[in-house]
Amino acid sequence: MDIGHLLARELGADRVILRGDERLDAYQRDESPLAPHPCDAAALCRSTAEVALVLRLCREHRVPVTPRGAGSGLTGGCLPVRGGVVLSVEPMQAIKEISADDLVAVVEPGVITQRLQDAVEEQGLFYPPDPASLEYCSIGGNAANNAGGPRAFKYGVTREYVLGLEVGLMGGEVLRVGRRTTKGVTGYDLVAGFVGSEGTFGVITELTLRLLPKPPAQATLLAVFRAVADAGAAITALIGRGIRPRVIELADKASIDHVRPRSRYKFPADATAIVLVEVDGDADSLGLQLERIGEDCDRHGAIDIFAANDPAERRALWEARRLISPSLKEAHRFKIGEDVCVPRSAIVEMLGRVDRIAAETGVAMAVFGHAGDGNLHVNALCDDDPADPAVMARVDQAVGRVFADAVALRGTLSGEHGIGLVKRDYMPLEQSEQVLGWQRRWKAMWDPDDLLNPGKVLPARRAACSE
Ligand SMILES: Cc1cc2nc3c(=O)[nH]c(=O)nc-3n(C[C@H](O)[C@H](O)[C@H](O)COP(=O)(O)OP(=O)(O)OC[C@H]3O[C@@H](n4cnc5c(N)ncnc54)[C@H](O)[C@@H]3O)c2cc1C
Repeated sequence: MDIGHLLARELGADRVILRGDERLDAYQRDESPLAPHPCDAAALCRSTAEVALVLRLCREHRVPVTPRGAGSGLTGGCLPVRGGVVLSVEPMQAIKEISADDLVAVVEPGVITQRLQDAVEEQGLFYPPDPASLEYCSIGGNAANNAGGPRAFKYGVTREYVLGLEVGLMGGEVLRVGRRTTKGVTGYDLVAGFVGSEGTFGVITELTLRLLPKPPAQATLLAVFRAVADAGAAITALIGRGIRPRVIELADKASIDHVRPRSRYKFPADATAIVLVEVDGDADSLGLQLERIGEDCDRHGAIDIFAANDPAERRALWEARRLISPSLKEAHRFKIGEDVCVPRSAIVEMLGRVDRIAAETGVAMAVFGHAGDGNLHVNALCDDDPADPAVMARVDQAVGRVFADAVALRGTLSGEHGIGLVKRDYMPLEQSEQVLGWQRRWKAMWDPDDLLNPGKVLPARRAACSE
């Protein structure tokens, strides 16, 4: 009996989608530009016991298993590259507990991030990680990828909010790691190891998450600049004053030009950068903070500055930033969005390098991102046929140069999207064979037969790197 029919017999036919069923197609792709990868079956697990059962049977039968949350990943992390079984935790949707006294939530991994945020905010609490995909990505996927978002500048990324995990291991053992208290240094930090391991160590079946009291008020400021260096200087100045905004976003000229036709705000013709800053805290203190941020932007050459604390007006200021990604996507045959990170002091240099790469390779680029963290979404834009190998070779060369430059500026390949399949072979650009070797040993400890999400994160030994 093949693995799909075996799982259908053990879990129930309604929990397993078999090869030949067109519903399987959705489990063979994610939001990366990669082609679908065929698998034998998708197991839709409702409980930890079902996850453990799938992991036991797959280990016994030596079948690869690929964990999957909501499939919103951008790096091919949940693609079943070696076939086998896609283990989806999508049906595990329970918010088991929200404790205002302990500032903790206990949730199943399939809970959609926005749903958790809404549920805790109803109780005056706050779960800060805010990936732009929060309306459709899952908390389990966020932990597996250590997701970030605009608010990471003040509040940090998902890792800062995962206190404890329940994890299904290859072979079917269930492990609980971490704790419910915010502080705790007992033993090695296994939670930190699972967070960001991209489903290669174990399948997350429950998360204990740290919450904060909800900040009472927010205010937003948008500044438009003629030169990206001026925008960079304004950001440095406002951080230097000791102001800690929750968001500092930046977008370049190419991004502005794509948004221009759809935006209600008429950007000046010479606008080359926008900075969006958001602060939160006591309503009384926000006005003064915005005034100071406005002064810094003004002093560094902003040609337009808008500030708002009314929710509708704040949404209007966010409009230009939110329109960038869909505008780029609609305007081009395909776009490849990378998420390198550089030290904040190197942002302006990195943007200059991206312009040079675009000019020299003929691949248009638009950059926006979380400037407070130096996390830049560099988008390679192309209108040629992606099926033409010469086109893809040119795009790959441009993207490879972006990675190499980010690393040369003491940055990193990924600030929040993870490595998955897309960036796996670029790992040697940043990490030595020694570091990769220790990570391979770590992976082998949890999954000695290399059956759990194989082919992700770590390149094969001495992988040929495209740079
Ligand atoms: C428009 C758009 C905007 C985005 N914006 C952001 C952003 O601002 N910040 C950001 O960080 N990301 C962003 N992303 C990327 C993506 O949404 C995140 O990586 C998200 O965390 C993935 O969650 P998911 O549930 O969709 O995971 P999936 O795509 O299903 O899986 C992602 C990885 O996690 C593993 N995984 C999933 N669930 C589990 C589990 N329960 N146990 C173990 N491993 C698991 C998978 O094997 C895979 O390796 C964006 C994506 C899109 C399409």
